[in-house]
Amino acid sequence: ESKPIRVTVTGAAGQIGWVLCFMIAQGRMFGPYQKVILQLMELPAAEQVLQGLVMELKDCAFPLVADIKPTTKIEEAFDQSDVAILVGAKPRGPGMERKDLLNENAKIFKAQGEAIDKYSKKTIKVLVVGNPANTNALIASHYAPSVPKKNFTALTRLDQNRAISQLSDKLKTPVDDIHNIIIWGNHSLTQYPDVNHGQVSVGGKKTSIREAVKDDKYLNETFIPKVAKRGAEIISVMKKSSAASAANAACDHMHDWWVGTKQGEYASMGIISDGNKYGVAAGLIYSFPCECKNGEWKVVEGLAVDEFSKKKLQETEKELLEERKMALDI
Ligand code: NDP
Repeated sequence: ESKPIRVTVTGAAGQIGWVLCFMIAQGRMFGPYQKVILQLMELPAAEQVLQGLVMELKDCAFPLVADIKPTTKIEEAFDQSDVAILVGAKPRGPGMERKDLLNENAKIFKAQGEAIDKYSKKTIKVLVVGNPANTNALIASHYAPSVPKKNFTALTRLDQNRAISQLSDKLKTPVDDIHNIIIWGNHSLTQYPDVNHGQVSVGGKKTSIREAVKDDKYLNETFIPKVAKRGAEIISVMKKSSAASAANAACDHMHDWWVGTKQGEYASMGIISDGNKYGVAAGLIYSFPCECKNGEWKVVEGLAVDEFSKKKLQETEKELLEERKMALDI
């Protein structure tokens, strides 16, 4: 029997947060034996909905849920947290520029970084889902100097899952047979979904994705924007944004970080760049292929990067440098 861990979810009563809470309570994030204390934060405007969420969660009588603490106070939300999933963010309003969005969110993630610094465990693992996720994670980390920078991550796993799903459709093969698809860079339109190190298992034999698909034009010109624009495609179909797949990806990300990746499998994670990997500038939260073990991530090194990929890696790096400049002026 394990000691319950304290898991903070901000924006808990929003679209993604709502689904996410049930997934965490069911063991999707920390496995079937890890108990949790859910510290659910919302803005005062959503307090009623949060109350309703808590009632529903309670009525599930989830065996893994040791306690639920709903709050609108930041110091309560981040008190002694072992994990924080930062979902709550200011959505882009009509006519809003990227700079405005960054500035609005910079305030939220500065306050949350400071709260993490002050109230949470120093070993806290942070996953930022709220957009612009990479830069929001960087801001939170910047304002939590007593917590190691490696503890702040951003979600690009949804993009990885979307890429796998596209390839599974294209190859008419189960998703489970597709391995090591990488998302590089920013969780935005400049992201680079990279199939060059990917493989598909056919009859127990692994073949490279490029060999199996036999259509470089599709892979370079159709697949990449299809993955990057999948969120917008979903909005245009159902008139609201993807929530369940985002929550699911948050579970995949934290699960792999917490429990470990399978032998030989990469997980794409937005993590702090040390300046020594794939030519990416130091100090950005950039998505790399990672392997996780004992609660620590490690960037997969030594992968060959061709000219086409190099340009893509630089393009998304450039955007992250601009975002950092706008948000933190560094
Ligand atoms: P959602 O739950 O739909 O989205 C929350 C955030 O996740 C947004 O920034 C959204 O970005 C982002 N996101 C990341 N990946 C995806 C994806 N694949 N699909 C969709 N969104 C994605 O928003 P809601 O407005 O329903 O809920 C937000 C909640 O947060 C509200 O209840 C609000 O009250 C709360 N909030 C809480 C704060 C706090 O706790 N301090 C601060 C601010 C808000 P994008 O906008 O680009 O879709």
